Amino acid sequence: MPHAVTQSCVGDGSCVYACPVNCIQPTPDDPAFELAEMLFVDPASCVDCGACRTACPVDAIKPAHELAPSEQEFLAINAEYHAVRRERPLLAPLPPRLRVRDFGLPLRVAIVGSGPAAMYAADELLTIPRAQVTVYERLDRPYGLVRSGVAPDHRRTRRVTRQLDKIRGHRRLTMRLGVEIGRDLSHDDLLDRHDAVIYAVGALADKPLDIPGAELPGVASATALVGWYNGHPDFADRRFGFAGVRRAVVIGNGNVALDVARILAVDPQTLADTEIAPHALAALAASEIEEIVVVGRRGPEHSAFTLPELVGLASTPGITLDVDQSALPDAAGDHATEPGVARKLELLRELASRPAAGGRTISLRYGLTATRIDGERAAETISFARTHGGDAGAELTLDSGLVLSAIGYRGLPVPGLPYDGERGVVPNDGGRVIDPVTGAAVRSTYVAGWIKRGPSGFIGTNKRCAQETVRTLIDDHNAGLLRREARPPVVPA
Ligand code: NAP
Repeated sequence: MPHAVTQSCVGDGSCVYACPVNCIQPTPDDPAFELAEMLFVDPASCVDCGACRTACPVDAIKPAHELAPSEQEFLAINAEYHAVRRERPLLAPLPPRLRVRDFGLPLRVAIVGSGPAAMYAADELLTIPRAQVTVYERLDRPYGLVRSGVAPDHRRTRRVTRQLDKIRGHRRLTMRLGVEIGRDLSHDDLLDRHDAVIYAVGALADKPLDIPGAELPGVASATALVGWYNGHPDFADRRFGFAGVRRAVVIGNGNVALDVARILAVDPQTLADTEIAPHALAALAASEIEEIVVVGRRGPEHSAFTLPELVGLASTPGITLDVDQSALPDAAGDHATEPGVARKLELLRELASRPAAGGRTISLRYGLTATRIDGERAAETISFARTHGGDAGAELTLDSGLVLSAIGYRGLPVPGLPYDGERGVVPNDGGRVIDPVTGAAVRSTYVAGWIKRGPSGFIGTNKRCAQETVRTLIDDHNAGLLRREARPPVVPA
């Protein structure tokens, strides 16, 4: 019986390295890895040894006979990925082991932020015997979006903190909580104390919802709601009330949109044993919301949520999923070869014909772009224009007392570093920060994670991203380029 990867896969690639027969794909050196929705076991070559299962930090891999009925679909999802033979050139492989020049001194690296990209960078650096890592985190709790972004009911995904705890426990790692760079210490302060600085500060802002009425009470970003229900201190004084609201509308249909829709829809009792903030649980218990409408501006084939998350939503008890049947194409068409799209459409079709299951309804709507929000003192209605089809341009208005924009994140400028305002990232080359005007490297300064590549991918995508940054940093160290007053002169190797 082969093993199968299931919904909670964080894509960190631990299983790929553990597998003795290379039956798990995409591998981190495959260009598809960065955008993969999860990793997939090839049932034809799986030898059922369970090595992948032991390596997985979030218990996402199970032998077929242990899959719950709601997880059976993952057998086909895993097999399907391997059924299409993919012959892609692999990325230039990262050298398996860091080759580090020994200058006879410790290599001291500051990492700003403590989310997955930061912790994976620390993990990689700590394989170097002389490396000493200090992680600076502005909050009084570590791990960034793993704590503040992952939905409380995604219990298995949250177990990745155990892997991060292990990294944190390394004797050559110091974690400094409650220290904000730019407020308590400057970039220059860090350079005075360390040989290099890696910024892994994520993408802290939301893409703005730029329509009239977006400033009304009752309109918020999904990020704020997620931060609020996860007890993030930045959102502690936000107030979300769901009494008196019958319909919530979520703009955008990525995984964040599905997360907030699901949390608003499920019976709050099912969240009671999670790490949800008590104030959020109390507010949800008083909720009068009956329907959550998740709106995509394009068609179902472009749904930004991933297949594993849709499978998970489809098997969530106590909610009704209402899919707009008229929006579903008969076939995946041009998108048929994209991994997961045909199956996503198939599942949406199945959901469209499923009888209502009771509970609150999550409605998936397509081909609508929000044009304005109206209300006397707070949001009361939201209007959309149809984006395609025979009635393109036609208006649709829905009553809604709660409008959440879930249209993506955006990195903020880092004090003292160059910034690409268009992409919301710090310009870099393989993690080495580059001044876009001169094209020169900013000395001893690196980036990893969303501030390096933008807000895409999963928790584990940050592992390869961080490894690449560390290799760049080590190349510079080996070339004698890192700032170091006491460094002895570089001698040719
Ligand atoms: P996302 O996946 O990029 O989705 C953004 C959504 O917003 C898309 O539907 C996009 O539509 C829409 N959008 C963007 N600009 C818009 C505009 N101006 N007007 C209307 N709609 C607009 O972003 P996300 O949901 O914030 O997720 C960010 C990353 O975190 C993703 O990689 C996601 O997979 C990951 N994540 C994963 C999980 C999980 O695994 N459970 C949970 C949360 C987040 P278009 O496609 O038309 O641009």
